[in-house]
Amino acid sequence: STRVVLASRPHGEPTQDNFRTETIELPDLADGQVLLRTVYLSLDPYMRGRMNDAKSYAPPVEVGDVMVGGTVSQVVESRSLRIEPGAYVLGYTGWQSHAVADVNSLRAVDPNRAPLSTALGVLGMPGFTAYAGLLKIGRPKPGETVVVAAAAGPVGSAVGQIAKIHGARAVGIAGGAEKCAYLRDELGFDAAIDHRAEDFADQLKAAVPDGIDVYFENVGGPVTAAVLPLLNFFARIPVCGLVSQYNLVSAPEGPDRLPAFMGLVLTKSLTVRGFIQSEFIQELSGDFERDASKWLAEGRLKHREDVVDGLEKAPDAFIGMLHGKNFGKLVVQVGPE
Ligand code: NDP
Repeated sequence: STRVVLASRPHGEPTQDNFRTETIELPDLADGQVLLRTVYLSLDPYMRGRMNDAKSYAPPVEVGDVMVGGTVSQVVESRSLRIEPGAYVLGYTGWQSHAVADVNSLRAVDPNRAPLSTALGVLGMPGFTAYAGLLKIGRPKPGETVVVAAAAGPVGSAVGQIAKIHGARAVGIAGGAEKCAYLRDELGFDAAIDHRAEDFADQLKAAVPDGIDVYFENVGGPVTAAVLPLLNFFARIPVCGLVSQYNLVSAPEGPDRLPAFMGLVLTKSLTVRGFIQSEFIQELSGDFERDASKWLAEGRLKHREDVVDGLEKAPDAFIGMLHGKNFGKLVVQVGPE
């Protein structure tokens, strides 16, 4: 089996040197285990956090261990009556070509229901994150304005489209003209703004004439700074991610903005609520599966994938994602379907 391990911990931006590709022999199967061949590996921003030796909501990857990640795999060999060779499964087997896994840690994926890779994107964890964070915390009402950044990615693109489905106005923020055109022309966002534009804050203000009722926080940094003055009374901020900060090694220069921020929370009666999507799985995954597959089939929830070919390209693709090099849900095709 070929696998990519964490070779060293990054200081700031990850580099190729933080990863190492190696070949290992897999252990024999025990009862209740299966041998898997990875087809698709998901690359996600949270993996940057796992590379640090810091306490978070999940333990870090140890140096020398295989990088973690969600996967869609095919069963090659089975020592369980519950699953047969040839079946496809969703698992958490990481950056490797093959894996031995307990059958209890896997979920069946039906290749006839939707393309296999959607189990890692629009119908998987990122789609669910958008659904749960927007509907449980953001709670958009018809006619309200929802703003989301990293809007061309799997979370943001679903946030905007689900906001539209619920009758709200959706304004997306993304890096570059191509992503912005995609949000407006293909996904039906009411407006899309390039956060790298010189006059970004002015463009954002012009795009939200009635202010902002829901800011779905994916990025932090200067984007958030431009959003804050535009928030309405009783605005809701689901704090989902802060990707602009993941490679920071120290606090950015500048004045302490915390007093002004807390003042705003008070005077505008804001709700700021962080979440990790797993919190909502028990409560909402059934509703999500029903709604998302229906919306997908109806063409109301569109998605885009950025497929990179070959496990050896995973480190580069991952490093690039943290700068917006990906356009759509980033997945690695590790083996053929
Ligand atoms: P994306 O595919 O959207 O990738 C991240 C994107 O962030 C990049 O493509 C880039 O897009 C944007 N970005 C990077 N740096 C900056 C910056 N400095 N300023 C503005 N935008 C930036 O990722 P996902 O859709 O998978 O994830 C989106 C967010 O959701 C992340 O913060 C992630 O950590 C979070 N998340 C949280 C979960 C939870 O349970 N709380 C679960 C899943 C995801 P662009 O070109 O537009 O700049």
